[in-house]
Amino acid sequence: MAEVFAAPSRYVQGPGVAATLGDEMTRLGLEGPVLILAGASAVRRLGAIWEQSLGPAGFAPTIHPFGGECSRREIAAVADAARGLAARTIVGAGGGKAIDTARAVAAELDLDIVSLPTIASTDAPTSAISVIYSDEGVVEESRLHPRNPALVLVDTDVILAAPERYLVAGMGDALSTWFEARACARSGATHSRGGTPTRAALALAELCWKTLRADGTAALAAQRAANQTGGRAMDAGARGAFERIVEANTLLSGLGFESAGLAAAHGIHNGLTVAPGCHAALHGEKVAFGTFAQLCLEDAPAGEIAEVLAFCRSVGLPVTLRQLGLGGIDGGLLQQIATRAVQTGEVTHNEPFPVTAAMVEGAIRRADAVGQGG
Ligand SMILES: [Zn+2]
Repeated sequence: MAEVFAAPSRYVQGPGVAATLGDEMTRLGLEGPVLILAGASAVRRLGAIWEQSLGPAGFAPTIHPFGGECSRREIAAVADAARGLAARTIVGAGGGKAIDTARAVAAELDLDIVSLPTIASTDAPTSAISVIYSDEGVVEESRLHPRNPALVLVDTDVILAAPERYLVAGMGDALSTWFEARACARSGATHSRGGTPTRAALALAELCWKTLRADGTAALAAQRAANQTGGRAMDAGARGAFERIVEANTLLSGLGFESAGLAAAHGIHNGLTVAPGCHAALHGEKVAFGTFAQLCLEDAPAGEIAEVLAFCRSVGLPVTLRQLGLGGIDGGLLQQIATRAVQTGEVTHNEPFPVTAAMVEGAIRRADAVGQGG
């Protein structure tokens, strides 16, 4: 099996970079017409900036409002709009679902895709994957596309203005990256891009975890202060921590998961989605608990488990079933979660040892007990 590393062609992050969209597209040789698929808050925040940035660069954009779900119906509707426009480039702007929809449309029409995330809650913007849901919001498939985005444009002023819960959830998604990469390296599992991990991907995944430990609490404090003061009064140290965490949540975590692989943390996340009680929990919040349970499943050193527990507590990520909305869970539901986590083809089987539902159930119980303890 060959080692494979996949990445976006260009990643640009910083305060105010949304205004450089036109210049960045010109630099990359991307063509118009441009269809921008955007959620309502992205349009409010960035609509005027896009007109100013794309118009002078010769790309008159058409903004298409996102319907709210990355479903086959939505993908077909946006693809029709893009065909009607003879679009050459698709821009996905907003949260993960808007970007996933835009990516699926671009893949279907063989067009270039630009990701413009407005929150840092997951590592999806850099990837070549769309998670497709039914119109009712149930996961139907993970669709793999041939190419990563041509451009990922991360305006950290926009991210800074978002609610802090999204940044924390992004840290939960990023928390899993190193531990899942390490599991895949040990087992020799194949990642989603069709190869085994390079040393580059493993180094980025490890840097992701180091960055969370070094800067997580300072970045969260910076965002909290910015939300209270309308973005004013941030010193350079706080801004630096915030920028590094946005990079960890988006780029390091994205490259790490896609080119090193996923394991039990995301498998247990997928298991948790069968429990209605935690539907209000964000992806990264469930992944954080999944990471904690993965380490219990692996019987990781007590010091490492304690370190992950301390990190989760320091930024407010869930470490118990109750914090996920599953307090007082009955044995039957726990069994269902564990069974879903080990279904055929699930990433839980990327662990370097055979994993059964009973083992996952035990790991979740142990994580919950450790999380409740001192
Ligand atoms: Zn994830």
